[in-house]
This record gives sequence, C-alpha cells and structure tokens, in this order.
Amino acid sequence: NRQMTLAARPFGAPTDEHFALVDTDVPTPSNGQVLLRTLYLSVDPYMRGRMNDAESYADPVPLGGVMVGGTVSKVQISKNDDFKEGDWVLSFAGWQDYALSDGTGLIKLDPARMPPSYALGVMGMPGFTAYMGLMDIGQPKAGETLVVAAATGAVGSMVAQIGKLQGCRVVGIAGGEEKCRYALDTLKLDACIDHKSEHFAAELAEACPAGIDIYFENVGGKVFDAVMPLLNTRARIPLCGLISQYNRTELPQGPDRLSQLAGLLLVKRITMRGFIIMDDYGHRYPEFAQQMGQWLAEGKITYKEQRVEGLEQAPQALIDVLEGKNFGKVVVEVAKD
Ligand code: NDP
Repeated sequence: NRQMTLAARPFGAPTDEHFALVDTDVPTPSNGQVLLRTLYLSVDPYMRGRMNDAESYADPVPLGGVMVGGTVSKVQISKNDDFKEGDWVLSFAGWQDYALSDGTGLIKLDPARMPPSYALGVMGMPGFTAYMGLMDIGQPKAGETLVVAAATGAVGSMVAQIGKLQGCRVVGIAGGEEKCRYALDTLKLDACIDHKSEHFAAELAEACPAGIDIYFENVGGKVFDAVMPLLNTRARIPLCGLISQYNRTELPQGPDRLSQLAGLLLVKRITMRGFIIMDDYGHRYPEFAQQMGQWLAEGKITYKEQRVEGLEQAPQALIDVLEGKNFGKVVVEVAKD
C-alpha cells in the first residue's frame, strides 16, 4: 500500500522534499469495515494549508502522516452490509492506494450516470463551493456584473458559468492567453482579463464599464487590488480563497491598507463574507446536486478535468496548482479500473 506522507513542513512553496512515498501492508478490514482502493485523488489548494502547523478550520496533517484528500474509490473487500465489492464511492481516503472505512461519510456513486471522477469536481466540493458561494453570498441578479478570479479553475469555471445562467455579465480573470481564450470561447464569458498583463488593472476597468456588483474572490493579492476601486455600492464579495497568499512567508510590503478597505466596505456598504463549504453548507448538498445534475444533463455546463497519472505525481500536481500551472480540475489517476 503506497502512501504519500508529509515528510517536512514547507516554509513558502512546497517542493518534492516535503513529501515521502512509503510502502506499508494493505490493511485488513474487520467486521463492519470495507477496504477501499483509490482510483482518483482530488488535488485542491486547501491541501497547502494542511501542511502548515497552524490553527485553522481543520487540523494539520501530522509529520509522517498520510496527506489528506478526497478520493473516488472502489470497494475491494466488504465486511459492511451497506456496501458490496465493486461499489464506487466518494471518500476522503487521502493520498494512498488503500484505506479502511466503517462506511461513515461514504457516498455511493453510479458510474452509469456520469464519470465517477466528476464527484471530485463539477458534482463535488469545487462545484458545490461555486454554487453556494455565488448563489447564497453573491445573490446574483440578471444584468449585474460578476467578476470571477481564477475563472478557468475548478471553482471559478463553475462560478462563471452559473453566473451566466443567472443572466449576469461575467468577466473572468485568468493567467495567460490560453486560459483567457478558453474562458471566452468555451465558457462563453463576456470578457476575460489576463492578470499577468502589464496593464491588468486598466484592462479590468475597461471590461467593467458599469462597475462590479459581485466579486468572487479566489486569489487575493494584486487581483483584489485591481478589483477594489471598481466595486459598486452594495457589492457582494463571496470570500472563497486567497491562493496567491498560500505560499507566502511574510506580509506584503507597503503601507497598511486595512483602514482603506474598511472605509470602502463602510461607504459602499459592501458585504464580504468568508465561507468554508462543508462546514457552512454541507446540509444543502442535495439542493446543489439536483440543480447541477440537471444543468449537466441539459448541456448547460462545461467541465474540464486535468488528469495526472500516478500517486507519485501528486506532490508535483499540488505544487503546480499553487503556481497556476494547472488548467482545469486536477485529478490524479492513482489506479486504473
Ligand atoms: P483552481 O483550479 O482554480 O487552481 C488554482 C488557480 O489559482 C490556478 O490555476 C491559477 O489560475 C490561480 N492562481 C494560483 N496562484 C495564483 C497567483 N499567485 N495569482 C493569481 N492566481 C493564482 O483551484 P480551485 O478551483 O480548486 O480553488 C480556487 C480557490 O477556491 C482557491 O483559493 C481555494 O482555496 C478556494 N476554495 C475554497 C473553498 C471554501 O470552502 N472556501 C472550497 C474550495 C476551494 P490562473 O492561472 O488563472 O491565475
């Protein structure tokens, strides 16, 4: 049983040295348990946070512990009446080939309905995050301008498309020409601005002639700096993530701008609300699944997966996500079915 463990805690960007692949015996299920074989492992930005020994909404991975993560797994041996061999399940088995479960939290998947790996993306945590953040906090209305950061990513691409379905004018922000082209041609956004462009802030302003009513924040840093002056009165900001800051080692240079931000929130009566998807909205998953399943069946949502082969590639896949080198939802194919 190969397991990818946390070998050292990174200061700044993680590298290969922070991970170690170890081999252990395949565990044996006791009564009430199932043995799960991992087929797909989800790679997500939050995993960087779990590598730190810092207080957060979830416990850190202990040194030497198996890296955590959502998986699509298959039941290999069942000693639990609720599951049979061959069942596909959504699990949180982590970065390893095999794991035991007593069935708690496992969700059965139907491979005849859609590719099982969708449970890690469009139908899973990232899609759910996009839906709740936009619909509950963003409160989109037809005709409003919605700006989405990391617009071609797992969460952002869903926010952008749901925004279009609500009748918003949607402006994406993405890194590089290829991603911006995809946002326009495939996701059908109204505009997409490259944050690596020299004139990024001016180009964003030009793409938002009526200001910004909703800003879906995934990134922070200079992207937020460019958004701030364009925010309209009563704008809403679902604060979903700040990926540009996850590898930072010190606070940004320059004057303290907290009072400037607070002043803006006050004068423009802006709502900025953070959320942690499963903690805050777990109970609303069925509502999301019903709606997203319908949109998918109607062909209204496009979903892009980036497959990476082999558990040994998972560290590099995470390193790449944190540097914007991924294009679409990153899924590691740990084993072939
Ligand atoms: P993505 O698929 O969007 O991948 C991350 C993307 O972030 C990269 O492709 C890159 O896109 C962008 N990025 C990375 N570094 C930078 C940087 N320094 N500056 C600007 N952009 C950068 O990941 P997810 O969709 O899985 O996650 C998106 C965000 O949502 C993250 O912040 C994540 O933490 C958050 N999240 C929050 C949840 C919650 O419950 N609050 C749940 C799930 C996700 P590009 O090349 O276009 O810049």
